[in-house]
Amino acid sequence: MNNMNIRSLGLGIMSLVLLPGISVPAAATETKLKVLVIGGQNNHDWAKSTPYMEKLLNRSDRFQATVNNTPEPNAPPAAWDAWQPKFRDYGCIVLDYNGQAWPDRVQKDFVDYVRGGGGVVVIHAANNAFTGWKEFEQMVGLLWRGREYGSSLYLDDDGKLVRELPGQGRGMGHGGQYDWVMTVRDTGHPITQGMPVKWLHKKDELYHGQRGPVENVHILLTAYSDPAPGRGGTGKNEPIVWWVPFGEGKVVTNLMGHVGELGCLECVGFQVLLYRSCEWAATGKCATSLPNDFPTADATSLVP
Ligand code: ZN
Repeated sequence: MNNMNIRSLGLGIMSLVLLPGISVPAAATETKLKVLVIGGQNNHDWAKSTPYMEKLLNRSDRFQATVNNTPEPNAPPAAWDAWQPKFRDYGCIVLDYNGQAWPDRVQKDFVDYVRGGGGVVVIHAANNAFTGWKEFEQMVGLLWRGREYGSSLYLDDDGKLVRELPGQGRGMGHGGQYDWVMTVRDTGHPITQGMPVKWLHKKDELYHGQRGPVENVHILLTAYSDPAPGRGGTGKNEPIVWWVPFGEGKVVTNLMGHVGELGCLECVGFQVLLYRSCEWAATGKCATSLPNDFPTADATSLVP
């Protein structure tokens, strides 16, 4: 087991931090940030969550979001031949997808897009997808994979990063669903700027023991996985939001967002994270200011 201070992972982007309280009015920005949301297959209710995230993004005057879903499971090859998302037309791609492997041609376009500086935001079960697609696994870093598949990270009670090697330590999974407290671990990052260090997220499914290549994983927020009866967690501070550099691009993964009920996506904390993650992955900056109704350590805050 290898203990490292989280700071030792290298957070070399401090020069991009905006001053607290500063937001850029839409009128002062050249154009809206174009975001593509991809659903189409998932073991979760993507038909609810994909259009909902599109709606959330378009509610902010910062974004122009559209959806381009994959063909349905077992669609004929011709349907896949016709599916050619133009990643380069967008500043950020939001993945709400957990299904069949994409065609080689689309995988290559996607990898080239990220390598060339494109932004990606991976939501909840989208980190379950694409087992064996090495570039995808590298850019996500921690995925829903078996214990032998890769290493894992958590933060100990002192906030120190602990790395578990393949085959060691806790396996991947999730406990019950409940309201959980998010803890900001990098208060200087543009995505978390100004957030209370602890804030309460609305009932959601808390993943634990995610596995992967774990190269250059920068953890932004964790949640304590409660081992109490009925909750079934690990008793560890599990990474929930992190980012990984890939070529010139940036990939932000957010494990929140199990949709059965929409409550977890109605959480103002989730919404701010979605906005800022898209902005930051695309531009390295965040202009979305923290709303007054942001959740506190004791109270969730929902906007349908
Ligand atoms: Zn889930």
